Amino acid sequence: MADTPAPLPPLRETIRRHGLDARKSLGQHFLLDLNLTGKIARTAGDLSRGTTIEIGPGPGGLTRALLAEGAGHVIAVERDDRCLAALAELADAYPGRLETRAGDALETPLSHLGPPPRRVVANLPYNVSTALLTNWLSEIARDPTVAETLVLMFQKEVADRLVARPGTKDYGRLSVLTQWLTDARIAFNVPKEAFTPPPKIVSSVVKLDPRPQPRAPADPTVLQRVTAAAFNQRRKMLRGSLKPVSRDPQALCSAAGIDPTARAEALSVEEFCALARTLQ
Ligand code: SAM
Repeated sequence: MADTPAPLPPLRETIRRHGLDARKSLGQHFLLDLNLTGKIARTAGDLSRGTTIEIGPGPGGLTRALLAEGAGHVIAVERDDRCLAALAELADAYPGRLETRAGDALETPLSHLGPPPRRVVANLPYNVSTALLTNWLSEIARDPTVAETLVLMFQKEVADRLVARPGTKDYGRLSVLTQWLTDARIAFNVPKEAFTPPPKIVSSVVKLDPRPQPRAPADPTVLQRVTAAAFNQRRKMLRGSLKPVSRDPQALCSAAGIDPTARAEALSVEEFCALARTLQ
């Protein structure tokens, strides 16, 4: 971007002046390292077009990086009203490029946040990170063009689940639903010390690119039911674990071309889709 922003105080100074002590109840772990916030922003690719959505900007460290990396229009959704004054100062430094929405991201569909192409970039609040992702996956299932990419910081153990392959201990319902709809990869890991205050465990930045078409056809609600049943009792064979969704799981599996004695973690995304189609 050609515009040179007005000088901003160091982020630590912004946090101090606005009294933004981190609150655990809001999952607040702030990023102050400019190299790291710049790297996260660049992972999202070209930020100049459409809308860059940031969930939970907090004092605005990552927001600064998004703007400095050329984001033309950032919409930042923040639940903590204490952060709004600091974000207003940032908006003044980048006139017309940062819009802050005070509110709960769990109640804000991506489709309501600016024109496409949209990309979501966020250091997510850990306590609601999987709930947010589940909402966004439901939106992507309805419209894969709702976001062109999502670059999201998760706890590493959640990130590992999102990209897990069949036959591994991390493979579960969230792996199937994520990989059904997106190409998912871990971009890089982030040590605890990078955050203020540091969380208990390592984090990972994940890049999710919604696929133009899901990996295989299936109704989202039926696929959710099948995966929930199968993984709720992941040690049982499918002929047992699928009883909550089918009166005759053995016949269901056979009709879908799946071994009824297999366990949930052995099935590929495509095989879960086959089960969902047969059930329907
Ligand atoms: N982006 C900042 C950074 O990287 O330093 C802060 C990230 S901090 C991990 C998570 C942020 O999400 C906090 O600012 C918190 O107030 C905000 N937050 C928590 N729950 C939220 C919700 N339901 N909707 C919107 N923001 C939320």
